[in-house]
Amino acid sequence: MPELPEVEVVRRGLERWVAGRTVAAVEVRHPRAVRRHLEGTEHFVAALTGRTLSAAHRRGKYLWLPLAEPDGAASGRALVAHLGMSGQLLVEKRSQPDETHLRARFTFTDGGRELRFVDQRTFGGLAVEDAPDGDGVPPRVAHIAIDPLDPSFDESGFSAALRRRRTEVKRALLDQTLVGGVGNIYADEALWRARLHGARPTDRLTRTQVTDLLDGVRSVLGEALAQGGTSFDSLYVDVNGQSGYFSRFLAVYGQVDRPCPRCGTPIVRESFMNRSSYSCPQCQPRPRARRS
Ligand SMILES: [Zn+2]
Repeated sequence: MPELPEVEVVRRGLERWVAGRTVAAVEVRHPRAVRRHLEGTEHFVAALTGRTLSAAHRRGKYLWLPLAEPDGAASGRALVAHLGMSGQLLVEKRSQPDETHLRARFTFTDGGRELRFVDQRTFGGLAVEDAPDGDGVPPRVAHIAIDPLDPSFDESGFSAALRRRRTEVKRALLDQTLVGGVGNIYADEALWRARLHGARPTDRLTRTQVTDLLDGVRSVLGEALAQGGTSFDSLYVDVNGQSGYFSRFLAVYGQVDRPCPRCGTPIVRESFMNRSSYSCPQCQPRPRARRS
């Protein structure tokens, strides 16, 4: 499943390869890929044909590309994409054979490379939605918190909100309304960097611990971004089909029984919210039970 750095890699690819190009035609190969476009497939195609994809934005794991009218004016609408579990946006030569799970194809008036939406499990999807003021945030995306890779991320606001929550710190990191786009992998890696167990209560974290945690989130996301994302499940590739290779730099996630890179203690796996959490029992001791 693509996490935030992978989606940011895709955004950068779209910004570089797609922004500024005008859609010549759209072919929807599977209606499920546009099920979030409530007016139907034909309306989706008509809303895009002849429009220019003017930029590529991201909030959390949502991507959106504002649409410009043929005269260059902002249309107030945007193409919104979510990659779901297995979605890929690929920019490819027209001669490239179709992928087995090709769901939608965009061709452009310049006759150059196509944009293809490929999705094996079809949890992802595309829609054209209102996006006030052209570069405005589509309503579907507005509730998602700005993430630490976004230049406008509010560090002190995040710290205050985190400490106000009466919850476990890992649960807070995965809460998309508090901080956008941090999934299970990066949460575990950030907690290890900050030397915090995921079950630590947020309202008992010191300011220093919150700062260390935010530094951990930022550094792990930034490094993953520099490496092109984690890409464990081999389904995820970036906009040009290049796999990320951050996974070899993981300290704890998926590393059960391997030595902690800091202290050598074997990494342990615990179950958490129906998933696995990985941590070093030495560097990240479990908190004592809260006295009632
Ligand atoms: Zn350790």
